[in-house]
Amino acid sequence: MASLLVRRAFNVSRRDFHLCAPVMSKKTMPDPIDHATGLEKYELLAKQAGNDDPFFLKAVKRGKGTKAEPTIVNAMDTYRSVGCVCNEEDTNIKWMWLCEGVPKRCECGYWFELKVHPAPEKFNLPL
Ligand SMILES: [Zn+2]
Repeated sequence: MASLLVRRAFNVSRRDFHLCAPVMSKKTMPDPIDHATGLEKYELLAKQAGNDDPFFLKAVKRGKGTKAEPTIVNAMDTYRSVGCVCNEEDTNIKWMWLCEGVPKRCECGYWFELKVHPAPEKFNLPL
């Protein structure tokens, strides 16, 4: 009777669930690349090949920034929104649009230019 009360109080069923460790040790998690498709697989394959930023999402440090040597901003389209932290102590970002073939000067005086790369084609993505 006492064991029944304990079972009900702690919600323990009569059938216990047993797991055999040797059986589970043979199973491994599948490789994520095998399950990925489309853009996710494109990104994983690029990272495996050594390209850590295939979609140009990482922040870029400003270079010399002159009109002759502008900071190159990579994009997969003919335009991209770019944010410039003009001074290190600034708490805001100045945003502007960059278009292909039109270098642009930020308010701080640095020049930026867009470099267009081909985007992965929707119907040629790895399966
Ligand atoms: Zn700026």
